Amino acid sequence: MNRCRICNAGELREGLVETWMPAGPPLAGWVLFRNVPATVCDTCGEKTFSQETAERLATILDPASRETPSKFLRAPVFDLALIDAAQAKGKKPVAA
Ligand SMILES: [Zn+2]
Repeated sequence: MNRCRICNAGELREGLVETWMPAGPPLAGWVLFRNVPATVCDTCGEKTFSQETAERLATILDPASRETPSKFLRAPVFDLALIDAAQAKGKKPVAA
């Protein structure tokens, strides 16, 4: 069995994972890939992609790619500046 080089404890297994990657135009944001073949550590969760898979993801994100996203997700957003402002306005400061 292959041992994880990150945590030195887990074993590496082949699997399909989800992974986020930054994308340039026209998507310009974080993109979620699903069902991506990877080697995954069963202890720390570190994901490693083959060169072939990494190149495939980059090709899909290339503006010249004909691939289109299968769906779009809405993401909840936490803005720490707004949270801090709300706490400063109405609540006691959180003890450090
Ligand atoms: Zn690990």
